Amino acid sequence: MLRYLTIPVTAFAQNCSIVWDDQTLQAAVIDPGGDLDRLLAEVQRRGLKLEQIWLTHAHIDHAGGTAELARRQDLPVIGPHEADRFWIEALPQQGAMFGFPPAEAFTPTRWLQDGDTVSLGAHTLNVRHCPGHTPGHVVFHSPDLQRAFVGDVLFAGSIGRTDFPQGDHAMLIASITQRLWPMGDETVFIPGHGPESSFGQERRTNPYVRDR
Ligand SMILES: [Zn+2]
Ligand SMILES: [Zn+2]
Repeated sequence: MLRYLTIPVTAFAQNCSIVWDDQTLQAAVIDPGGDLDRLLAEVQRRGLKLEQIWLTHAHIDHAGGTAELARRQDLPVIGPHEADRFWIEALPQQGAMFGFPPAEAFTPTRWLQDGDTVSLGAHTLNVRHCPGHTPGHVVFHSPDLQRAFVGDVLFAGSIGRTDFPQGDHAMLIASITQRLWPMGDETVFIPGHGPESSFGQERRTNPYVRDR
């Protein structure tokens, strides 16, 4: 079975998730924004074999620790979509702007596109491109686990900001309703900040995207 653990990292309490196969203990980390020693201590405590970094998008709280972690653990960087390249290149300035520890730019081992898959041992997660918060934002969906790691696309009771460069409110709403809702009402999502919820719950109650 696939399992996961979410650890809030950085001053922005960004939900970094460690995902692993409980048979082989092969693991991936989603959005290592920072606090790498805490993340690696958890990996070690559970005896996991960290093999990959997966990124939803390249804001500093999600991607700020990527270059250092990739180098320290010799890991491939998977994602986000190439439209976030300018955010990756701006990581040093993002760090300075928000008072983060120095963050380095990097080049992903593999850019992701809508319809791609990522794998961890025998498990496969589907990749959906969900632009709006950032143009290259992607979401990782495990149909088996009925879980989606959605970064800053959707939150419990809210949606991602669209007031950044290349943010697009209408596109974000379309990403949510056309690419997240089809994953099913029962699917639980892990947002980039705050508590988990399900798509069904948001369709009923989220003022930004509920069914009308
Ligand atoms: Zn963000
Ligand atoms: Zn965020």
